[in-house]
Amino acid sequence: MTQIVVSEPTVTVAAELPERCDRCGAAGKVRAFLPGGGDLTFCGHHANRYAETIRTCADRVVVESGFGWRAP
Ligand SMILES: [Zn+2]
Repeated sequence: MTQIVVSEPTVTVAAELPERCDRCGAAGKVRAFLPGGGDLTFCGHHANRYAETIRTCADRVVVESGFGWRAP
């Protein structure tokens, strides 16, 4: 029996994110903290591209103030 648990990450807003996108090196807009430890930072482009993955994998997400990221 497979049980699928989808838990929404806690989203907080930060004044700025000093980190850079792990994918392309652009300024980070969204930082996702994973339940197992570690974190990934995404620029605006990649945050939207991986929005579904971030929403389902991350347990906490920090979004830069002014960046209108919406998880699907
Ligand atoms: Zn990027």
